[in-house]
Amino acid sequence: MTRGVVLHGTGGVWHVQCEDGESVEAALRGRVKHAGKIKLAVGDQVTLDSDAGGSGWTIVEVLPRRSKLSRREPGRAHGERIIAANVDQVLVVFALRQPEPHVAMLDRFLVIAEANSLAGVVVVNKVDLAGEAEARRLFAAYEAIGYPLHITSCRTGNGLVELREQLRGRTTVVTGPSGVGKSSLMNALYPGLQLRVGEISASVNKGRHTTVGAYLHPLPDGGFVVDTPGLREIGLWGVPSRGLDACFPEIRALRDQCRFGDCSHLAEPDCAVRGALASGRVDASRYASYQKLLDEALQTEKY
Ligand code: GDP
Ligand code: ZN
Repeated sequence: MTRGVVLHGTGGVWHVQCEDGESVEAALRGRVKHAGKIKLAVGDQVTLDSDAGGSGWTIVEVLPRRSKLSRREPGRAHGERIIAANVDQVLVVFALRQPEPHVAMLDRFLVIAEANSLAGVVVVNKVDLAGEAEARRLFAAYEAIGYPLHITSCRTGNGLVELREQLRGRTTVVTGPSGVGKSSLMNALYPGLQLRVGEISASVNKGRHTTVGAYLHPLPDGGFVVDTPGLREIGLWGVPSRGLDACFPEIRALRDQCRFGDCSHLAEPDCAVRGALASGRVDASRYASYQKLLDEALQTEKY
């Protein structure tokens, strides 16, 4: 028996990294020991047993998950699809320029992280194109809320040591729009590892297979980077309207002070959130994102 982490799975064959660092292929046993009915996902911690003949490995147990990144199918209570298990943080990468950063999209990614109870981390790459002062100005609200902010450049090496430290020993989902430098960052942080973040969906969808699971890439410092083609799709599903306010940490901190327990923070009297908006303690663009996502969620729930 040995313990391992699921790195990838295709067609019933699971690639598992064992505790000794060796990667093996394993099959899932028909009856697996675990808490409930679960589907195996990358990032799952499993117990392996070698087959009777000693020729292969079988997954006999899935250990309890400490977290998960999942996507809910709208209108289906049990339609949850687990994208990765035991994720620690979601790294949301934007570029300071080329392409111009859209903070509304950043808010959307951070809400997905919050909805999954995962820590969000903001990375502003390509600082060489406009300077650190400009990066701090544009993203000051996120630092104020408490999100770790990393200002980086693959060209100058700015911020890479700190970012590598942020990833050490953790399981990280890397996401963000295309062209912001996600792959360049991974390759600058871990030369020789050839991490192809976000490329899998593009290449695979052109081929015959339309669905592909996530990959877990082991890092030399310990920890993993999750490469998932699915995170943008999760964004489209959104988050239920009820509880959306809890996905904005600065609103979450205030909502108990609103007069009404079910305050939507849109028009109710004595709303602590709108009070803080008026005094500038809640950022106007963050509040606009909240309004937009709430509106989207309510529209989706109508059908
Ligand atoms: P991805 O789609 O997010 O994975 O982005 P890529 O890593 O493919 O990078 C997109 C483009 O941005 C490439 O032409 C990179 O050379 C360039 N790039 C990446 N990082 C930086 C950076 O820090 N500064 C500048 N100026 N360009 C960068
Ligand atoms: Zn309110």
